[in-house]
Amino acid sequence: MSSTESLPSVMPGDPSWWFEEALRHEGHRSASPPLVGELRVDVVIVGGGFTGLWTAVQLKARAPHLSVALLEASLCGSGASGKNGGKVSGYWSALPSLVKSIGADAALAVARAGTRAQDGIRAFAKTGGRDLWWREGPSIKISAAPAQDKKIAAYVSEARRLGVSDSVQALSAQEIAGRVRSPVFRGGVMFTEGATVHPARLARALRTAAIEAGVQVFEHTPMVQLERGSPNRLTTPQGQVIAKEVVLATNAQLASDPQIRAHVSVFSSYVVMSNPAPEKLQELGWLGDEGLSDLRMFIHYFRKTADGRILMGSGSGPISYAGNANAVSLTQDAGSAARAERGLYRLFPSFQSVGLAKAWGGAIEVSSDRLPFFKTFPNTRVHYACGFSGHGVNPTYIAGQCLASLVLNQKDEWSSLPFCTRSLPNLPPDPFRTVGGRLVRWGIINCEEAEEQQRQIPLIARAAAKLPELLGMKIGTR
Ligand SMILES: Cc1cc2nc3c(=O)[nH]c(=O)nc-3n(C[C@H](O)[C@H](O)[C@H](O)COP(=O)(O)OP(=O)(O)OC[C@H]3O[C@@H](n4cnc5c(N)ncnc54)[C@H](O)[C@@H]3O)c2cc1C
Repeated sequence: MSSTESLPSVMPGDPSWWFEEALRHEGHRSASPPLVGELRVDVVIVGGGFTGLWTAVQLKARAPHLSVALLEASLCGSGASGKNGGKVSGYWSALPSLVKSIGADAALAVARAGTRAQDGIRAFAKTGGRDLWWREGPSIKISAAPAQDKKIAAYVSEARRLGVSDSVQALSAQEIAGRVRSPVFRGGVMFTEGATVHPARLARALRTAAIEAGVQVFEHTPMVQLERGSPNRLTTPQGQVIAKEVVLATNAQLASDPQIRAHVSVFSSYVVMSNPAPEKLQELGWLGDEGLSDLRMFIHYFRKTADGRILMGSGSGPISYAGNANAVSLTQDAGSAARAERGLYRLFPSFQSVGLAKAWGGAIEVSSDRLPFFKTFPNTRVHYACGFSGHGVNPTYIAGQCLASLVLNQKDEWSSLPFCTRSLPNLPPDPFRTVGGRLVRWGIINCEEAEEQQRQIPLIARAAAKLPELLGMKIGTR
């Protein structure tokens, strides 16, 4: 922790506020039983978050005759899917960086896939009497410090250059204040597509939908070993699954695989949830359903909830050594929770008197070009999705569609997307990657805090923050 950091008023810990609320909403129905004995299926999916569950639902929708099982180590939705900010956004806001890394046509294909995902999630949220707190509203990036102002123009000019000016609009300080007032908001950029959702209720509803579609769901059933072959064999503590097709949807845990690890680093993101204060939201003039973030690199992301709270996230959590997704620092780092809390009070000072209900953190797997990848290990029938880079609520829908296409060997509008077809740059090996990553993170956090406080950036922090750019890397550059 740096000298400027303090402890959060609530220490971070599992489960998330969302997950507890979702289980209460369900009436604490019992978990699906663990797998005992041998099971033979066409497809086994490992991991019961959004990725695994969308894949299960989409597979059954496209090929109802297939036998599909899903193994979840804990309870479905207890991972990142049940603990994220619930900000739903596709890729229109990523166009400038996507164009640089994959080119204009591919960037537009990715952005259009995000729109199809928004349509798909909306359709799911609005049917079957589900109450998932789905609220559509624009996604807005706001400058909250003079140094962030310069980023706004790039979004607008790139969209104009690509002929998709409709997707984005610059907002003045007054226009932002017309949506939500903060003493530090200076203007921003609005993407018309976006939504917020109750992420844990979404994950649990997907679990129910999968079960109703005939998927055999086993909770408290970790896969402990995978023998790739024809068929594949998966071992669990009390049983085994024999399956022709395997889908690995275990998120940051996939960073332990050497082939995947070449392309991802494991970082973490932390969230604080305020107590309810609908009257304070009224005072802020926050009447719409925008999903918001500032324009830092280690962003603050925030939204309100249906019961009058503000969720504030900070994507500035520690990097774990050698891709270890189980490091304690990924879920219990007081400094990162304190940064999220400080962000809440800096942006919305009136919430200081409201206080926090909960704080928590979780792993995010950041890919070498910040775009997820959905692929099949060469010469196997083992498919996987990884690299959501802290942005997965909308993209996991795309992952489900792409993985279903890979399992079914379908060359279609999903499997031909860059998520499945591009090659990714390699990251430097450890220990250089982690040590270098930690240095750069430290430098950027210090630069961004100095910029917010409008004080001189320490030279050493500026130098550390510049390293990725000097090395020609695509992640870590501001
Ligand atoms: C704090 C935080 C805030 C975020 N905020 C946002 C946001 O606002 N918007 C956004 O778009 N994205 C956000 N994200 C990212 C988003 O949550 C993830 O990208 C997305 O949920 C990934 O879904 P998943 O199904 O791949 O992973 P998970 O939800 O993590 O699911 C993986 C599942 O696999 C299980 N598992 C792991 N190993 C095994 C095994 N061996 N056997 C069986 N099961 C196993 C785990 O228990 C887990 O349930 C955030 C992430 C975090 C951590």
